[in-house]
Amino acid sequence: MRNIHIILIFASLIGCDYNEKKSSEVNLYSQRHYKVDEKQYENFTKKTGIKVNVIKANADELIERLKNEGENSPADLFVSVDAGKLQKGANLGLFQKVSSSVIENNVSNDLLDKNGFWIPITYRARIIVYSNDRVKKEDLSTYEDLSNKKWKGRILVRSSSNAYNQALMSSIVANLGSDVASKWSKAVVQNFARDPKGSDRDQVKAIAAGQGDIAIVNSYYIGLLLSSQKEEELNAGRSVSVFFPNQGDRGSHINISGIGLAKNSPNKENAIKLMEYLTSEEAQKTYVNNSYEYPANPMVKPSKIVQDWGEFKRDNLDLNNLGVYRDEALKIFDKTGWK
Ligand code: FE
Repeated sequence: MRNIHIILIFASLIGCDYNEKKSSEVNLYSQRHYKVDEKQYENFTKKTGIKVNVIKANADELIERLKNEGENSPADLFVSVDAGKLQKGANLGLFQKVSSSVIENNVSNDLLDKNGFWIPITYRARIIVYSNDRVKKEDLSTYEDLSNKKWKGRILVRSSSNAYNQALMSSIVANLGSDVASKWSKAVVQNFARDPKGSDRDQVKAIAAGQGDIAIVNSYYIGLLLSSQKEEELNAGRSVSVFFPNQGDRGSHINISGIGLAKNSPNKENAIKLMEYLTSEEAQKTYVNNSYEYPANPMVKPSKIVQDWGEFKRDNLDLNNLGVYRDEALKIFDKTGWK
């Protein structure tokens, strides 16, 4: 009797009852930090009966975890807000290729991974916002122009430890080379209104408070501020206008939020179902109207707030470069004193 007991306990420990669960759940390792995600997963569960389990952490921690867990990893999907981290995961052999005609039909071709290891769910532009009181639209043009002395003491941006800035710098290295990127970074640092601190939203609040005149931020944060219930946030959003840099040449830097299918995904079928759902028109509408990101599915329009900024040309750089040039970007930040 005791032996049977021990065997049963052991069996459950090594996951012999896992097959049962297998058909009804999907496990996410997610870097995303937005309220809209819970809503998406609830809707998916209602539709399919598949339970969505989420472990949240930063991308590097999640990649490390996937790596260490290896074949025993319970993770089905790795969700990131940075193509650079998806490239990193793919490069480490942590993902498997996904082929789904549903997803291919759902998303814009130019946002897809050319190697097939990750799929986009949304995209965002790293834009410039400017004070309605102190800056004219005509004063702005490109990311490169932020190195101009006319911006001395006027630029607000968060720290270089942030992945959004790292991706932007990677895009500048990929497009213009290391030397140009270094000179640019050095000059931009000279133009800072203050030492980098806070979040993207904090930079906009600092413009409203008169601490600087322009800021580099992700587009959806302006949507979030403009739709906020908090007066301080609403006022911050209203104190600035949106500018899309580099419209006369390569286009504004974008990054995707996307998903990789884990190499050892135990619930692969459910995982692909969730990927398909998140790129569907229904889920894409949920994204645009709650997180103010741009839809990866071109059949869906951005939210009204975001549409009002007008359409823009996006930099069509292969987004895997945001990972390929990451180390170089970090060196440049370090070397040029971008804290
Ligand atoms: Fe964000």
